[in-house]
Amino acid sequence: MSHLIDPRSRYARLDAPEQDQDFPGLDAELQPKADLGEESYRGSGRLEGLRALITGGDSGIGAATAIAYAREGADVAIAHLPEEQRDADRIVALVEEAGRRAVSLPVDLTTREACDELVEQAVAELGGLDVLVSNAGKQVSVPDITEITDEQFDLTMRTNVYAMFWLCRAAVPHLQPGSSIIITTSVQAYSPSDHLLDYATTKAAENGFGKALAKQLAPKGIRVNLVAPGPIWTPLQVVEGQPKEKLPMFGDKQPLARAGHPAELAPAYVFLASQEASYVVGETLNVNGGADSP
Ligand code: NAD
Ligand code: MG
Repeated sequence: MSHLIDPRSRYARLDAPEQDQDFPGLDAELQPKADLGEESYRGSGRLEGLRALITGGDSGIGAATAIAYAREGADVAIAHLPEEQRDADRIVALVEEAGRRAVSLPVDLTTREACDELVEQAVAELGGLDVLVSNAGKQVSVPDITEITDEQFDLTMRTNVYAMFWLCRAAVPHLQPGSSIIITTSVQAYSPSDHLLDYATTKAAENGFGKALAKQLAPKGIRVNLVAPGPIWTPLQVVEGQPKEKLPMFGDKQPLARAGHPAELAPAYVFLASQEASYVVGETLNVNGGADSP
């Protein structure tokens, strides 16, 4: 019997109903539900004994990564906004079910003090740090540059670029040779959409930052890599990431003709953190259903 899974039909076309949620949104309220790999992800000890901090680990790509990391043997701290406690509690329970330690750390990452404190808390709770996944992000769709407010531009920069920098700077002194940093960038870094001007700018900045930091930290034995997702079904897209009327078509234009689910991203984060990736440095791993990559 064949064990092949057809990537076109592993998940049905989303056909999501038009819907709305206030920022930051909850996985618990998404229709249809996103697959975080709860039923499907099987670990094989690839991250045994590692300690990971995942920002935005309550939902979407970060949550799928937290589940996979735990099943691969890692202890996990997940950072999230206080409003996301309901999602975070569910992921903490799944990590604990895998027999690993889980810590939920509510925080707003848009100040340096908060990022510094988060890293210290994670180190204290986990007894050290081996993997930083800088994944929290903000995406607001605005069709016209004249309608992008200073407040929005600043908040997108702070969440996606400044927080990443502050977190990496605070984490590096704690990282030993063999540890790694993984940054979530996007297909938007090099194939930007007209309605995601400020967001695409931050994703390109993240990509450049990750590649430069990779060169700086490789001589210390610390690997830095990035993941560039395509259209993935997560709260951020429903909250304000897409024009509402486009939600029912989300992902349809990919060569695989469907949106991706967070469960399809987690294996990339596992690979990049694993010791098998010892010669993978400064890579942007595209997981986008067949869209262009640089
Ligand atoms: P998501 O809504 O599940 O996750 C985003 C998370 O960011 C939230 O859960 C929240 O905890 C965190 N966050 C936002 N603002 C914050 C703040 N001020 N302080 C602390 N935390 C904050 O959506 P997702 O799609 O899984 O997003 C994860 C990453 O993936 C983001 O960096 C996003 O840009 C990137 N990405 C997503 C897609 C997609 O199609 N969903 C595509 C490419 C890249
Ligand atoms: Mg969330």
